[in-house]
Amino acid sequence: MTDELTDLIGLSRAELAAEMAAIGEKQLRARQLWHWIYGQGVTDFAHMTTLSKGLRERLGRSYVVGRPAVARQQASDDDSRKWLVRFADGNEAEAVFIPDDGRGALCMSSQIGCTLTCKFCHTGTQRLVRDLTAGEIVGQMMVARDSYDEWPSTKQDRLVSNVVMMGMGEPLFNYDNVAKSLKILMDPDGIAISRRRITLSTSGVVPLIRRAGEELGVNLAVSLHAVTDEVRSRLMPINKKYPIRELLDACRDYPGAHNARRITFEYVMLKGINDSAADARELARLVKGIPAKFNLIPFNPWPGASHVSSSPAVIKRFSRILNDAGYSAPIRVPRGRDILAACGQLRSDSQRQRLSLLKARRAAGIADDHHPAPVDG
Ligand code: SAH
Ligand code: SF4
Repeated sequence: MTDELTDLIGLSRAELAAEMAAIGEKQLRARQLWHWIYGQGVTDFAHMTTLSKGLRERLGRSYVVGRPAVARQQASDDDSRKWLVRFADGNEAEAVFIPDDGRGALCMSSQIGCTLTCKFCHTGTQRLVRDLTAGEIVGQMMVARDSYDEWPSTKQDRLVSNVVMMGMGEPLFNYDNVAKSLKILMDPDGIAISRRRITLSTSGVVPLIRRAGEELGVNLAVSLHAVTDEVRSRLMPINKKYPIRELLDACRDYPGAHNARRITFEYVMLKGINDSAADARELARLVKGIPAKFNLIPFNPWPGASHVSSSPAVIKRFSRILNDAGYSAPIRVPRGRDILAACGQLRSDSQRQRLSLLKARRAAGIADDHHPAPVDG
């Protein structure tokens, strides 16, 4: 029966070696297997021709090289692709690929839902269902690679060249599984995406920022979104625990940050909330001494949201002030808007149902607060 088979996706190299040792196989076998799974993208043991026929059959009796089911795939007219992947227990998460001039970034989810409740974020309206396992995080990459036919890993000019941990969830609240999955993605004999092409985005879980820098060495993006604790705490309740000063101190100490490898500060542009010229000047002052760049994100609306994006002119002014202070501050071009594919906009079907319920409640005149508690189980 399939549910008795162990999925090899998501095992670390050491765990895979231990599995092979347990069935009396040499380390070399684990290395060959790793290469088939992550270098070649092969899921059928029968095709792993460097392994003996006997071993292939034995593997097939105990293991599987799995993929999450793709519950839905959507393609945008700007070539973005979004997958709703379904895991063995029926839970779903989204991943989206955003192309950029022959390359592109896969935006991956780390949790189903989120414990945090940032007011502008759609995921923030959904409570945490559970963390994703390392296998489920890696599985999102496997689905993307399959979808774009990007095997073997040595293929030149791969489209899925970068990874951003910017989907559903707070990656640093699922640190162990995120770390394990990123190490699998970085392995040079497998998926082989260099740490320089991986960006982890956090809402500011201060105690884990340094650890991520030391152990993973990936690029750091920080969702800042405000220049005062008062405004930031309102938008992002995590700020009450880790206020701006502590967050920026952690950024100052981030291992591996230097001028050629800056920390990205994400800043969602909310009309009348955080977008004045004074805010922009204060922002430049705050990050002084940090190798920093900005990413200005026009607020991406969702049904039921209480915010509105700043106008293009206001966003441009904000960007110019940061530029004049010596910082790169590009405005993120909304991609995949027609399929709601933008990062930070990923959501599940259960959420969609809940939002339509919420809208029905609103239409019926039943009050809800600004940030509704989930109404489903
Ligand atoms: N939890 C992590 C990563 C996921 S969110 C974090 O908060 O950083 C990825 C990015 O999208 C964050 O910067 C988040 O603030 C931003 N975001 C969330 N909702 C958004 C929206 N509706 N419009 C624009 N950006 C949004
Ligand atoms: Fe969670 Fe990030 Fe959304 Fe905040 S912005 S609710 S941390 S996913």
